[in-house]
Amino acid sequence: MSEAGVAQALSVVQRSIADAMKAAGRTDMVDLVAVTKTFEAAHVRPALEAGQRIVGENRVQEAKGKWPALREAFPDIELHLLGPLQSNKAKDAVALFDVIESVDREKIAEAIAKAADAVGRMPRCLIQVNIGREPQKAGAAPEDAAALVERARALGLPVIGLMAIPPADEPPGPHFAALKTIADGLGLPTSMGMSGDYREAIAHGARWVRVGSAIFGARPPIAAG
Ligand SMILES: *Cc1c(COP(=O)(O)O)cnc(C)c1O
Repeated sequence: MSEAGVAQALSVVQRSIADAMKAAGRTDMVDLVAVTKTFEAAHVRPALEAGQRIVGENRVQEAKGKWPALREAFPDIELHLLGPLQSNKAKDAVALFDVIESVDREKIAEAIAKAADAVGRMPRCLIQVNIGREPQKAGAAPEDAAALVERARALGLPVIGLMAIPPADEPPGPHFAALKTIADGLGLPTSMGMSGDYREAIAHGARWVRVGSAIFGARPPIAAG
């Protein structure tokens, strides 16, 4: 996607979200998180100029270099952290992000609580669930999600949903359904679905979809995680 194509690609994705909502008979809301990781400010700007306000990044360091300046031009940006957070980056993350979608263990919930105290600002949080039980992937085991939600809340984190990334090499539908079942049990909405499967995630009730390459184009493979 050239910079010139970004606004058009965004509108295609928006239309396709609306179509998927309609096909699913949904009259509630889906928010699009535009995933801007690896793309420079100039490449992201057309999406902001077209009105996109919810954006997602994977790395604290990268976001710190990119978003403070963009925020001066677009003060109502809502910035989501999607990638794994290290305790030593918790202060930076809490200062910069509005929503942390990747709260994946008790230790990081504690680090966020402590950082929020120090910084005087508390982001909203989602608990990440390792819905496909992949050893290399972050997230609470499905059966531990409820306990982590409870623990995070006890620490003062405003938990607003569950997030998951299904296994790349399996049909995502059953994983979306499984996350939705757990989330429904907790009275929480879900963040699920990426460029390849956001329509299907919407059919399974996603409240947020996180779409990068369908809007901004292919990423260099090394930084794709
Ligand atoms: C990169 C990423 C996305 C977006 O992926 P695309 O396939 O480019 O849409 C969504 N969620 C997370 C957690 C990601 O790391």
